[in-house]
Amino acid sequence: MARQMQDKIIQALRQVIDPIHRKDIVSLNMIAGLNTSAGEKGEHVSFSIEIDPARGAEMETLRQEAERVVAVLPGVAAVTAVLTAHRATQLKPLPGGRPRPPARMEIKGIKQIVAVASGKGGVGKSTTAVNLALAMAGTGKKVGLLDADIYGPSVPRMLGIEERPKLTPEKKIVPIERHGLTVMSIGFVTNESTPTIWRGPMVMGAIQQMLRDVMWGELDILVVDMPPGTGDAQLTLTQQVQLAGAVIVSTPQDIALIDARKGLNMFRRVDVPVLGIIENMSFFQCPHCGERSEIFAHGGAREEAAKMGCAFLGEIPIDLDIRKTSDDGLPLVVAQPESPQARTYGAIARAILAGLAEKGATDQREAALLSEARS
Ligand code: ADP
Repeated sequence: MARQMQDKIIQALRQVIDPIHRKDIVSLNMIAGLNTSAGEKGEHVSFSIEIDPARGAEMETLRQEAERVVAVLPGVAAVTAVLTAHRATQLKPLPGGRPRPPARMEIKGIKQIVAVASGKGGVGKSTTAVNLALAMAGTGKKVGLLDADIYGPSVPRMLGIEERPKLTPEKKIVPIERHGLTVMSIGFVTNESTPTIWRGPMVMGAIQQMLRDVMWGELDILVVDMPPGTGDAQLTLTQQVQLAGAVIVSTPQDIALIDARKGLNMFRRVDVPVLGIIENMSFFQCPHCGERSEIFAHGGAREEAAKMGCAFLGEIPIDLDIRKTSDDGLPLVVAQPESPQARTYGAIARAILAGLAEKGATDQREAALLSEARS
């Protein structure tokens, strides 16, 4: 079914002609990352159109045309096409023939953006993102947290934020400061009653606006709490924002791991390095006698990570205090900084920072190679 739908979409896109090359955008190999996901009212379709960065402005009409020809297909509920400056044809290839990284949105003042993702909802992604961001801030880094979970923005509740961000006279959004984190949430701008089907397209604009129009200031790291799943909202986000890396949160159950694998593949498809997998609600440790019980078939994520060739960052127990402290608006890393659970978050945060530092060094080498290739 998905295959048939993709064929129809490709067929439809053949009607869109690039005015310069006078050929259709499919024959010109300009379509990438075509993704469809079933929504309540039909398929949600997303794809990117790879263009020469010098032609960005004139290609907007072509992007709209591509969205239009797909939107009229029977069974399609929503379409998101994005322009990505992927093919820098005028530049010499990188040594070794490696493909060039696509040009994505970078945010002034933010050194690295890391996504916390999950293949499905309810695995504890937001709880993990919040505690990890706090643990990173505890190491002396300047950390921001963007809650982009359109389907359940829970960061304001977890951090006990009741106020709303203020606007400057220049219409810039002033993020909220809490426990040393600079925080912005999609929950500040969407309404609980916004129908889910509208959230994807609407939220994409809102997320971009949050990245662009928020006065983030100077940040070492921005942690993005992603919407769960691997649909169009997630894909667009991964394609548009310059992500330094992603971590995937999973529970030990197989089903969640199948979803986690989809998450991993999504990031790999768009060249975002996956820094590792975290197993949440991994085991239960009795608070009285300390005995550890493996409630689920524990260890699945570690094995799966090894199979998928990706790092395993650690396991977080299922723990009453983790839930209670989040519900009370004072996450565990702040409420009980000396607890074993807080130390676990700390160790995982340090592993992520180490992965990011490695990535930063690679980026610097690539930037040097790129400027060499340009000259
Ligand atoms: P997601 O963002 O994946 O939808 P949440 O972070 O909102 O999930 O967590 C879902 C529920 O599980 C929340 O009630 C949260 O407090 C609880 N939870 C998350 N991680 C743990 C954990 N390690 N131990 C106990 N409860 C947890």
